[in-house]
Amino acid sequence: MSFVSTRHGTAPTPIDDALIAGLAPDGGLYVPERILQLTLPGKPPVSLAETAAWVLAPYFAGSVLREALPALCARAYDFDAPLLPLTGPQHDGRDHVLELFHGPTAAFKDYAARFLAEALGALRTARGDTEPTTILVATSGDTGAAVAGAFHKRPGFEVVILYPDGRVSPRQAHGLECWGDNVRTFRVAGTFDDCQRMAKAALADRDLREKRALTSANSISLGRLLPQVAYYAHTALHHMQSHGEALNLIVPTGNLGNAAAAWLARRMGLPIGEIVLATNANDVLPRYFAGAPYSPQATRATLANAMDVGAPSNFERLTCWLGDDKSLRASLRAFAVDDDVIRRTIATAPERHGIVACPHTACALHVLEILRAKGDQRAWSVVATAHPAKFETIVEPLVGHAVPPPPALAACLARPAHGEALKADDDALKARLLPARASASVTARREAAVQD
Ligand SMILES: *Cc1c(COP(=O)(O)O)cnc(C)c1O
Repeated sequence: MSFVSTRHGTAPTPIDDALIAGLAPDGGLYVPERILQLTLPGKPPVSLAETAAWVLAPYFAGSVLREALPALCARAYDFDAPLLPLTGPQHDGRDHVLELFHGPTAAFKDYAARFLAEALGALRTARGDTEPTTILVATSGDTGAAVAGAFHKRPGFEVVILYPDGRVSPRQAHGLECWGDNVRTFRVAGTFDDCQRMAKAALADRDLREKRALTSANSISLGRLLPQVAYYAHTALHHMQSHGEALNLIVPTGNLGNAAAAWLARRMGLPIGEIVLATNANDVLPRYFAGAPYSPQATRATLANAMDVGAPSNFERLTCWLGDDKSLRASLRAFAVDDDVIRRTIATAPERHGIVACPHTACALHVLEILRAKGDQRAWSVVATAHPAKFETIVEPLVGHAVPPPPALAACLARPAHGEALKADDDALKARLLPARASASVTARREAAVQD
């Protein structure tokens, strides 16, 4: 199975190379050469890890990881994605919430980050690579923590995180700084866009690249997209078995990575019905799906900060798959939810839906209310992308009680912080990255020795 670029400027690439590269050399995003059709099992696999190995196997045909895929999935997907009923006066037991926040950093990005770490680690071993690899991540919160957690203490890797100081929740900030060892976290005196610019400049810097093997792990990496198909496949199969109907999804959306994975799962033949996107006030997608031309905007800061995206990067994958506007608009719908409505939805969700919602999940819950108001009586599953305890300063005053962090997040919060302050300046980052190289290889050698 080969992978091609959305911009058609790259030769078909084997999956192992595409995973390592992340982004195609022509600047496009990797997509499978063709979308595979699955033969659905009579009985769904019991565990998420088994479903993951089954759904990913065809893409790994010809990969050096093919044999090890089940073991690799067992390590990456070692926590559940439960589908629980929503309760309250307007639900008749058929609506659900898909909780994707039971991983180590309490957001859905843990699944893909952990799979990527397993895959890159195994590829490194298979290829006998000895140079340490540095993974550079600009984050508005959740990606950085998930990647740091997944690569923490993994031999041969160093992680460098850039996040905008003061623009993430206090618990998100601690979740980014609590690692140490092979993870360096910089709190940048600037915005997320500054962090992204600095990461891009470093990744494109010849001098730096000569001295360090640098790569990224952002949401357009192939190794972030594919693993997300697994939880949709698993949920859809089990939902079909217990309810006899396809799973209709409402997905909180920023860069469109999570929703693109749901779309891919449906196209591969899994029993998924309609997919509706819920954005915050960054409403590029709702405008587009309502018929306006696609026009990226400057990013607006909202309460649902992990979805503050003005130019959703995975849009390029969907246009590549679907070709024209008409097919795209026939395939998905999208609604925007502003901060006032997010607040109101968080405050009323315990009574109306039986859950405490994070600001991102609240967008999706409100979209369910919009659909009901339009007379839609079908069963819907709302995707919960982060645990509400991660956004305690927003959620707790609105629900009127403390929201205790789940155990993995509590463990993170109990560790000391290791962040370093950094100016929002490309050269400042470069200066910090250069001298550390010697010590990074020493660490890698030391860790390799410990492994032996
Ligand atoms: C990243 C993130 C999103 C947005 O996901 P995309 O794949 O970028 O659309 C939504 N909610 C939370 C909590 C996130 O961390």
